[in-house]
Amino acid sequence: MVKQTKLWIGGQWVDGEETIALKNPHTGTLIAEVAYAGEAHAKQAIEVAAEAFRSFRKVPAYERSAILRRVADAFAAKRTEIACTLAEEAAKPIKAALAEIDRTVQTYLFAAEAARDIHSETVPMDAAPRGEHHVAYTVKHPLGVVTAITPFNFPANLVAHKVGPAIAAGNTMVLKPAEQTPLTSLLLADLFQEAGLPDGVLNIIPGYGAKLSKMLTTHEDVAFVTFTGSPRVGKLIRQQAELRRVTLELGSNSPLLIDEGFTPDELDRIAAEATAGAFNYSGQVCISIQRTYVHRSCFDSFVERMVTHARALKIGDPLDANTDISALINDAATTRLKQWLDHAVASGAKVETGGTFDGNIMHPTVLTNVPDNVELSCEEAFGPIVLLDTFDEWGEAIAKANHSKFGLNAGAFTKDLQRAMQAAEELEAGGVLLNQIPTFRIDQMPYGGIKESGVGREGVRYAMEDMMDIKMVAIRTNAYGH
Ligand code: NAD
Repeated sequence: MVKQTKLWIGGQWVDGEETIALKNPHTGTLIAEVAYAGEAHAKQAIEVAAEAFRSFRKVPAYERSAILRRVADAFAAKRTEIACTLAEEAAKPIKAALAEIDRTVQTYLFAAEAARDIHSETVPMDAAPRGEHHVAYTVKHPLGVVTAITPFNFPANLVAHKVGPAIAAGNTMVLKPAEQTPLTSLLLADLFQEAGLPDGVLNIIPGYGAKLSKMLTTHEDVAFVTFTGSPRVGKLIRQQAELRRVTLELGSNSPLLIDEGFTPDELDRIAAEATAGAFNYSGQVCISIQRTYVHRSCFDSFVERMVTHARALKIGDPLDANTDISALINDAATTRLKQWLDHAVASGAKVETGGTFDGNIMHPTVLTNVPDNVELSCEEAFGPIVLLDTFDEWGEAIAKANHSKFGLNAGAFTKDLQRAMQAAEELEAGGVLLNQIPTFRIDQMPYGGIKESGVGREGVRYAMEDMMDIKMVAIRTNAYGH
């Protein structure tokens, strides 16, 4: 029998407003009938979270930490089961899904540790002439209700990057997962309840973003909105949220620079890593490598190696342990990528490999000679496509990398310390990875973008800073004559 889901509000399973048939994007088979929330459910969930905050704000750090640790343990214990759910709803190859669950365990563990390590500071009051005879310190308080709107591509770990810090800091939450990936989020209901989280602290309401986001961003009880997704929706959320604090983790078209001076073996290793960085999960990763700039002296050799590695990727069912590439998330993604590819080719781009589709599967595609002004150069492809281009001078490579409206992660391989330091200083990005691909992320790193890649930082501790207020307490020490 097909699984039927409900909404999770106030520690209860609640009926939704409508039911949606959720299909595996790769096989097209029905995997669940999912209850979607209406606006009234979003309102109810926020108000339940606001009520729960009245008591949860007093739950001590060691208890919040213990709950998060138990959730991390539960993810580890149910690793395969959760990864299969994720693989099915997102068409994410199981080896990538398992790797995501392993990272999710880490994220909840970092949150458990960070919950016990919230520090404030003393303020040197006598540094100002009028501050003498005062002692002052700050205290960090949770904000209240955090609403989270999340994307389809990392339904376990990107959700953990919001739920973990929010609970570690003592907030309560309403989570709205992406339309295509509600099941992995709904698993959190039981995991957190069994871990001892009080009812109402975490509420999970699958539904349409366009329908629910107004309530989730404008209800008077919402203190903070954390969004990960496309820049288009990010801008909308920011407008709606008005003066509320927001974190926006948005898209990119990440660059990779490859300098001269590598041996053939080294170049091959870099090409293998770049292939993974460009094509893992069919490039549906916010820091997927999209633009690669290679020194002219090794360009042809690098193109050849990348083509060889790309052709070796296995296309197949997400649940098959050997699969590297499965179907894209939906028809709209396929249509968009076809159009952008056709436009690039009509404008002079050369297809070195790939460029073909099999239903919603796009074959890993390596392009050269792509003009600067086509969509695949300027926008976020979010598909299995990488563009390779040449440079002669390191400064030129940096300028090409910076020629983008995005700035999330940037990577550079060079053996020259001077050039590495120049890249670190001049690449316009939230993160610069030297002798590493830009797709590299571990979960305690501060992570986030500049330009249209977003506002704010995640990476548990950094996210927590945004999810707390600072209160200053000053005590006058000579008020009564001493
Ligand atoms: P998306 O923007 O379509 O959807 C993300 C969320 O927004 C979903 O929950 C969706 O329901 C909701 N939404 C959709 N339309 C909405 C609207 N009109 N109003 C309010 N909410 C709406 O993104 P996606 O396709 O799920 O994910 C891909 C995007 O996410 C890419 O751009 C990718 O780069 C980005 N992303 C960024 C990061 C990061 O950390 N920077 C990580 C992962 C993904």
